[in-house]
Amino acid sequence: MSVENGKSVIKVLPPEEARKIAAGEVIDRPAALVREFLDNAIDAGSSNIEISIEEGGCKKTEISDDGSGMSREDLELCHLTHATSKIRALDDLETALTLGFRGEALAAALAVAHLQIITSTDGRDAWRLEAGPGGNYPIKIEQTRRTKGTTVRALNIFENIPARKRFLKREGSEGSLCRQTFIDKALAFNTINFKFYQDGKLKHFLPAVSSKKERFAASLLQTGESDYLHEINVTGDGFTAAIVIGGPELYRNDRRQLFIFANGRRINDYALTQAIEYGSQGWFPNGTHPIGAVYLEIDPSLADFNIHPAKREVRFRDTSAIHHTISGGVKAFFHKLYLRSSHNSAIIPEYENEDMKENSHRDAKAQRPEGEELFKTFNTDNKQSAVGFDKYKNNNCAFSVPLRLRENSSSINSFSYGEAKYAGRAFGLFILIELGDKLFIIDQHAAHERILYNKFLEEPIPKQELLAPIPFCTESDDEDAFLEAKRGELSRLGVDIERDQTGWRIDALPADWSLSDSATVTEILNLRTAGENMAQRWAATICCRAAIKDGDYPDDETAFALGKEALTLSDPRCPHGRPIWTEISKDALLKAVKRL
Ligand code: ADP
Ligand code: MG
Repeated sequence: MSVENGKSVIKVLPPEEARKIAAGEVIDRPAALVREFLDNAIDAGSSNIEISIEEGGCKKTEISDDGSGMSREDLELCHLTHATSKIRALDDLETALTLGFRGEALAAALAVAHLQIITSTDGRDAWRLEAGPGGNYPIKIEQTRRTKGTTVRALNIFENIPARKRFLKREGSEGSLCRQTFIDKALAFNTINFKFYQDGKLKHFLPAVSSKKERFAASLLQTGESDYLHEINVTGDGFTAAIVIGGPELYRNDRRQLFIFANGRRINDYALTQAIEYGSQGWFPNGTHPIGAVYLEIDPSLADFNIHPAKREVRFRDTSAIHHTISGGVKAFFHKLYLRSSHNSAIIPEYENEDMKENSHRDAKAQRPEGEELFKTFNTDNKQSAVGFDKYKNNNCAFSVPLRLRENSSSINSFSYGEAKYAGRAFGLFILIELGDKLFIIDQHAAHERILYNKFLEEPIPKQELLAPIPFCTESDDEDAFLEAKRGELSRLGVDIERDQTGWRIDALPADWSLSDSATVTEILNLRTAGENMAQRWAATICCRAAIKDGDYPDDETAFALGKEALTLSDPRCPHGRPIWTEISKDALLKAVKRL
C-alpha cells in the first residue's frame, strides 16, 4: 500500500458503494433472490406460494404468497439494512426458528435490482412499494389492491452493477439454479402448495402433502419410483430427524439427490451425507449412491446457522451424535426391511444391465429386461452380490477363521430334490450346485459370512492381546459413558478397553483383526447406535472381514461344503441382509435356449 504525498490512500467507501458490495455476498445471482424471497414467504406462514422467473431470473424474479402480509409501516422499513421482525438481539438466535434473521435480504435485493413489493395484511388495505435499483431513487409507496399476502418482484438484477452482471451464467443455467433452489425449499416444506413458472410456463406444481416422502417423490422422481422410497424417523438429544431414503432400486451414480436440511434450510454437510451413505453401505452396487434427504430439526441453541452468508453451512455442537443416530437409523432400517422381504419372498432389486444403471432415474419396473422370470425368490446378480465387498479386497485381511462346516448336511434333504452335485465356480464369486432340477448359484462371500456370523453368536469370539495398545480419545461425554457402560460386553466381543488419565486404550482385539487403528476406533464407537443389537452388529463387522472374498479360490471340496451349508441355512441372507443364493430351474434354462 503506498502513500501519495504523505496523504493517506485509504478512503471510506460511499455508503451506496459499500451497500452494493455487501449485497453481493447475500445476492450473488437470481437463485439467491429465489432463496431469500421464498424464506420470507415461508416465514410469513404462507400456505400457497408461487414463483415466477423470466430469462433465468435475470429479467424478473417474483414470489407471491398468502402469508401474513405487511402493514404500511412495516413496508416502509422492510427494505432497510438490518430491518427484521424476526429477532431483536443476537441472543434470540438461540431460539429463532425462522429461516431469516439478519434483516438484509430485501435491502440486498434493492441494492442490486429494481424492487416492487405489494402487500396486504387483511385483503382490505393493500400497499405497493417501488424502489431502486440501488435504493437511491425516491422510494414510492402507494395504495393498491391485493388479497392477504405479499408479492415481491425483483427486476433486472445487476443492471446497475455491470461487473457482477458479467459473472452471471447463461440464462438456462441461471434458470436451473433458480429451479434447484425452489426444489430445495419445496422438499423441506411439504405442507405448502408450490407453483413454479418459468417464462410464463408452469414447470412445477407441488400440492401440499402430508409427508416428506411424498413431496420428495413428487419433486424428483419418475412415476413408479416412489414405490421404493421410504421414510424413517430418528431421535437424539436435542434433535429429531425425518429421513427419506430410496431403496437400492433407485441407486444413482452421484450424490446429487442426497439432501441435508437443518431446520428447513438445505445445507452442505459432508458428515451427514456420509452418515446416510455409511448407513446404507452394503445395500447399493459399488460406486453408486442412495437418494434421499435428512430433515434435521435441531434445538437452535445446539447449532450455529450464522456462519455462512447464504446459510449453506451450519456448525453443530455435537456432529458425531447426529452422525451416529442417522447412520444407525438407516442401517437398522435396511436390515429390517430386507430381512422382512426375505420372509415374504419379496424380490430383492435387480441390476440387470448397464443400460438400466444409466437410466435408473426412469421407471425402474418398466425397464426390467426380458427373461427376468428366470430368477426367482432370492433373485440377485453378480453386481449386487458384489456390493460393498470391493473395499475389503485391498484390506489385506489376515483374519482367517477356518471353515468348520457341519459334516452332516442332512437338512439339504429337506429340499427333497435328491443329491447335491458340485457344478463348479463362476466369476470368482459364485459356487454352483446342482440339486434336483435346479441350479443353485451361491455367493461364496455372503455364505461364508453368514456361517461365521451364526458361529460367533453361538461361541465367544477369540481374542488377541495387542503388543502395542491403541490409545484413543473420545469426542463427547456420551462416548465415554457408552464405553464405560459396555466395557464388559465389548470384552465378550473380543475387545478389551481400559481408561486412564490420558484417555482410552484398546488392549485386545479379535484374533487376526486387520483394520487400521482409526478405523478400529470408529467401528467400536459406531456400536453406540446398535443398541441391543451390539453383538449382532459386531459379529457382522468381523465376519465381513473374515469371510473369503470375491476372487479368493477355496479348493473345490471346501467350496462344495460351503455351498451345501449355505443351502441349509434357515435364513439365507448375509448379516447385512443380502440374499446368499439365487436359483434357476432346468426348465427355465431349457426354455431360454428354446429346447422346451
Ligand atoms: P429477515 O428475513 O432476515 O427478517 P428480510 O430483509 O428478508 O430480513 O425481510 C425483512 C422483513 O420484511 C422481515 O423480517 C419481514 O418482517 C418482512 N417481510 C419480508 N418478506 C415478507 C413476506 N413475504 N411476508 C411478510 N413479511 C415479509
Ligand atoms: Mg428474509
